[in-house]
Amino acid sequence: MMRTGHHLAEKSYSMDNLSVYNSACMSYPYTLPPLAYAYNALDPHIDEQTMRLHHDKHHQAYIDNANKIVEKHPELQTRTLVEIMTDFDRLPADIRKVLRGPGGGHLNHSLFWDYLAPQSSGEPQGKLAQSIKKTFDGFVQFKEQFNRAAVSCSGSGWAWLWLTPRGGLEIGATANQDTPLSKGNLPILGLDVWEHAYYLKYHNRRPDYVMHWWQVVNWKKAEEQFEATTG
Ligand code: MN
Repeated sequence: MMRTGHHLAEKSYSMDNLSVYNSACMSYPYTLPPLAYAYNALDPHIDEQTMRLHHDKHHQAYIDNANKIVEKHPELQTRTLVEIMTDFDRLPADIRKVLRGPGGGHLNHSLFWDYLAPQSSGEPQGKLAQSIKKTFDGFVQFKEQFNRAAVSCSGSGWAWLWLTPRGGLEIGATANQDTPLSKGNLPILGLDVWEHAYYLKYHNRRPDYVMHWWQVVNWKKAEEQFEATTG
């Protein structure tokens, strides 16, 4: 597949070695990637019932809806969802309108499960740790800035640590299921702050959910991604 996005040539990172992006679940017909851990493995930080509903029902619904849309557009079926969402702004308006939520939802959630792990190291190591400390003046400062992005994102959305097209780390947020890839930013770590991600356990207390989430961050995955993309 020839990439035609005008901004793609300017990117300093490579996505070739990223497992999630090359996964079969990103090829049409889209499928639900299995969790790498048990539904109750993140307890007490993220409870089993939330994980079951979030993964089996919410994520599956994004997949079902994306498949229904792409079924009607054979020209999209030969591209991976990653390619489609990366070039999202160049899609015809009628497709953008319907695919934005389901397509971004499938991509974002497929990343999200991998960003979680029962045994978190608590802090990143290696090149990612160095880059975070350099960019944000320290790991504590990084966490504070990320927390602000997660808590201040109004309504449904995501907080992210991403790599900009120029190769710098940046904290940001996206609304609803918009994916950072559509603006050329490559996710390194992302947090779902939709109510369906936390409401059963934390009710309206999103900051509590965010604080607990740090206990189950899969830094190893983030490190792998960072090193795979930046070489
Ligand atoms: Mn979600």
